[in-house]
Parts: sequence; C-alpha cells; structure tokens
Amino acid sequence: MVNAVRGTKDILPEEIPLWYFVEKTLRQVSSLFGFKEIRTPIFEKTEVFLRSIGAETDIVNKEMYTFFDRGGDSITLRPEMTAPVVRAVIQNNLLAYDSLLRLWYYGPLFRYERPQKGRLRQFHQYGAELIGSSEPEADAEIILLAKEIVERLGIAEYKLLLNSIGNKASRQQYKQQLILYFEKYADCLSNESRERLKKNPLRILDSKDERDLEIIKNCPKIYDYFDKESIEHYNRTKELLALNNINFQETPLLVRGLDYYTHTVFEFQSPLLGAQDSFGGGGRYNELFSEFGFKKEVPAIGFAFGIERILLILESQHSISYEESPYTYIAYNKPEFLPRVYELARLLRKNNIPTLFDMQKKSLKAQMKDANKYGVKFVIIIGDDEMKNNTITIKDMEKSLQNTYTSEKGIETILNSYLPNEDN
Ligand code: AMP
Repeated sequence: MVNAVRGTKDILPEEIPLWYFVEKTLRQVSSLFGFKEIRTPIFEKTEVFLRSIGAETDIVNKEMYTFFDRGGDSITLRPEMTAPVVRAVIQNNLLAYDSLLRLWYYGPLFRYERPQKGRLRQFHQYGAELIGSSEPEADAEIILLAKEIVERLGIAEYKLLLNSIGNKASRQQYKQQLILYFEKYADCLSNESRERLKKNPLRILDSKDERDLEIIKNCPKIYDYFDKESIEHYNRTKELLALNNINFQETPLLVRGLDYYTHTVFEFQSPLLGAQDSFGGGGRYNELFSEFGFKKEVPAIGFAFGIERILLILESQHSISYEESPYTYIAYNKPEFLPRVYELARLLRKNNIPTLFDMQKKSLKAQMKDANKYGVKFVIIIGDDEMKNNTITIKDMEKSLQNTYTSEKGIETILNSYLPNEDN
C-alpha cells in the first residue's frame, strides 16, 4: 500500500460541505469589501521567495520545497502567497490601471514543517492584500475584512492580537538594543534563540521556551524606539479600529515570522486550537515592492487565514454544513429498460434535477435500499408494468407514498416540487 506523503491530507467527500461553506463565505465577504480574486501558479522561481521573505527566516532556511526542474532552474512550491501576488502585480502592471488594488487569493501552500495537529506540509490559505495605500485607513480596512470573515464563519472564541513594529528606521534601532540586551544573557538563551540573536533578533520575541520567556520579560520595549511616523501610524490605526468597535489585545511582543513587515502586525488566535493556536495573521509590508526592484515604493498591507485551522475550530464547535442529497433515483428491474432510464435521467438533469441510477446490476430491492441510503426525495420505479404502459411509478421517500403516473405527468410532478438549494 502506498500512502500519502507525511503532512499531507486527503479531503474526503464528507468534509467537503464544510469547505464549501468556508469558501463561499470567503468569496462573499471579499466582494462585500470590493476585493477581487487573483490566481497565481503553485510554483515560482525560488528567487521570488528569497528576495521577499528574508534569507534568515524559518521558511527560507528550513521549510521550502525547492528543486531544480529539468531545465536546471531553481523552483519552489509556494510557501506563502504575498510574494507571488506582488510578483504578479508588478509583472502584469496592475498598478497602472488602479493605484489601489484590493486582491484576494485562495489555494494550497507547501512548507516542510514538523507535522502535528493543525500543522501540515500542504495546507490552504485564504488571504487578502490591499496594495497602494500607506494610510492607517488601509490597515483598518484589512482588519475589518478579516474580522467580518471570522464573524460570518461563526468562530465563537478568538482574540485579535495587535502590534506595530514601526518603520524600518525605528526597527533598526530597536534591533540594535535587542542585540545588546540579549547578548548579556546569551549563555542562558535556548539554542534556537542564540542562533536568532545572530541572524534575526526580533524573532527571539516569538520564542515559547520557558528560559527565553524569563529573559524576554524584561527586554527593551519596541514602542520606546518609535519615531514620530511610527507612533502616529500606530495610534491612528488603533483609533480607527476603536471607531469600528473592533476589540483587540495590544501585544508588544508580537513580531511575526517574515522579514518584510513594517508598522502594523496582527494575529488571530483561538483557544479551541491547542498548541498551534494561530489561525491567521498579517501585517503591513511597505518595502516589499522595492525588494522586488520595483521602481517606486508601494505601501501595502495584507493577511492570511489558515483554512485547515479554521475547519478545526468549526469542527470543535460542531458546526456542520450539509450538502444537498441527490433528488431522484431511478430504479429499474431489467437491463433492457436502460434506454428508458437514460431518457428520464437526461430530461431530469436537463432541468437541473440531481438524478442517480444503478450501474452494478443490482436487484430492485437493493436499488431501493441504495436510494434510501442516499437520502433522495423521490424514487422513480420502472418495472414491467411501467414499461408496458409507458408510465412511471414515483415513490415519495419522505411520505412513503407511491403513485403511478403517465410519464409526462410524473416528470411534471417532480419538476414542480423541486426547490433548488440557493446556496449551491
Ligand atoms: P503565516 O503565513 O505563517 O503567517 O500563517 C498564516 C496562517 O496560516 C496561520 O495562522 C495558520 O493558520 C496557517 N498555517 C501556517 N502554517 C501552516 C501549516 N504548516 N499547516 C497548517 N496551517 C498553517
């Protein structure tokens, strides 16, 4: 038996209705905010991620699925979507048509991480990017969008963490101070944090290690190193969130994993998730376009939700979404009756009525059992009499009532009773 690759997961038919519910909600809320979908390839030149995410991040260092294709080019399965979206915006010159782009994406991502609950090697993200505004109004709008999605999905227990890491100049200063501070305790830090001290000191603040936490407790606070622009941006963002009655928890240690963030960063967490309690997050990335060599600076902000984690939350809340059962099942007792079965099935399906019939030469009794199992509303029975008289017998499975009609009348009865599910 050959199994799926570790850290990947089959999404089975019974799980699909909940996926559809989530996907439909994402699409709906995106349009409410005027965001349009963009779809980029699943793989990119490795350079796209090296330039953007930062060479010293976990993703680039340890987690990318990178390989040489047959032409010798270095290719990477996308570990995140912001960099590909920025690449696509530049390459397709989208900013020439609209100086404020509202984009969303949805699809699979790939990271070579240690698999555990809520952590996969192929997982899915929905994300949104608001490109072209440096104003705090854009920060607020992207958080409003994220929050609306969370609400409409019916996620009951969650919190929104908010922080600012300031502009580049402020962060640079803060980084220096952090290095000075942590160097004093280098011997007591975890190996990972000691490594980060050399490469990416801000990320030490992310550590979950008990010993690190003790040291982190008294480290310099980022707000003390903010310049005027950083303070103003952060305060105005908080004001706008308050204006919209958005509750958030100010979290000075929230830095997030990627190098390209500036100013606002935020994260959604839910206690229903366990150890991997973050189900989404994002931030401002004012310098990413320049990293790609774009001729001018393009301020932007975005976020992403992890779909599998959202599903874990919904499942733990017992949120269930039902898929519509097939509506009719045509049961027939002889293979010679197939032309009649096809004729009826064609007619019903042409009228958008989901229709099934047997393809395993089962007995009429077994077919009735199947129809019951599928939960259909009507079974159309074609037996000897029905064939002879050009009639159909319709059994209403809910009412357990059975009647024989002329073919036309019978079909009409079914068509008239069918109310399509508006959701699909
Ligand atoms: P990030 O792109 O790392 O900021 O992650 C954004 C969201 O994607 C997280 O909050 C998770 O919900 C989800 N996520 C990240 N990595 C994984 C993973 N390996 N497996 C499943 N979900 C993930």
